[in-house]
Amino acid sequence: MKKYCLTCPKCGNDECIDAQLHDPSILFCSECEEQLDFEEIRNIIDGWQEYIKDYDEMLKTESDHDEKK
Ligand SMILES: [Zn+2]
Repeated sequence: MKKYCLTCPKCGNDECIDAQLHDPSILFCSECEEQLDFEEIRNIIDGWQEYIKDYDEMLKTESDHDEKK
């Protein structure tokens, strides 16, 4: 069984998310003892991805500037 080291978005505990391999959309936090809403997690990740994308582009712009192409 594959182990995922995931952080619970509700309680912030690491490595306590169990994914059910027969239905990967069901995520269960052993700390909250609650099932997590997959859409809620997706929204959190999408928000971070947008931030990381903008951050990477900012770094890229800076390094392009440094190289003076
Ligand atoms: Zn939790």
